[in-house]
Amino acid sequence: MRFGVISDIHGNLVALQTVLERMGPVDQYWCLGDVVGYGPEPEECVQTLLDLDHVVVMGNHDAAAVGVISARDFNGEARRALEWTARQLSRESAAYLKAAPEQLPRNEILLVHGSPRDPIWEYLTSTEQAREVFGETNNPYTFVGHTHVPLVFLQDREGRVLSGTPRDQMLLKLGAERMIVNAGSVGQPRDGDPRAAYAVVDSEAMSVEFHRIEYDVAETQRRMRAAGASPWLIERLKYGR
Ligand code: ZN
Repeated sequence: MRFGVISDIHGNLVALQTVLERMGPVDQYWCLGDVVGYGPEPEECVQTLLDLDHVVVMGNHDAAAVGVISARDFNGEARRALEWTARQLSRESAAYLKAAPEQLPRNEILLVHGSPRDPIWEYLTSTEQAREVFGETNNPYTFVGHTHVPLVFLQDREGRVLSGTPRDQMLLKLGAERMIVNAGSVGQPRDGDPRAAYAVVDSEAMSVEFHRIEYDVAETQRRMRAAGASPWLIERLKYGR
């Protein structure tokens, strides 16, 4: 079976539609949270997912948009975007986001937005953090989002933790080593590369293939302007920052 890994869509419908087209058919989509927040089409992104066979875990922006956590924990621009986002969501979409679990196991793979020990908030960026998470959990593979930066942590047989950046079209074997995999962000990449990021898991081959693809950033920016988004949030999409 093939699974499409999509994370941090952030209301960017143009990026989401482009990713879905380019990915081609998969058996199920795994959405790692932050469907909404920042982007101009949160309602449309939720409705697009609802038409697909998919599972979703809760992201911090999803949680704040529907009142599960307080928007006060976000910086000013993120908070204003969240307040705007909350007003765009239908009752159905809000209920959908509210019902998302914080963690979801799929056989050997655990899906979570931030990290298994702090599912909504922890940004897993360092090998020190990854070492702690490996020590506190026992699932073989964990797929995360939240940082908007593609990154793989691997614990080798001696217990050492290494990290590496997956490039476009890189194929990673899910083997004996435990891994924490971040496929990056569909709708707001932050690694200096503005292209949308996603991955495809093949459960027979036990592999993950990483992808970066261009989408019409200018069109998303145009829609953000029309929605009255902040200039900085509009600008950053061009730089992937
Ligand atoms: Zn996010």
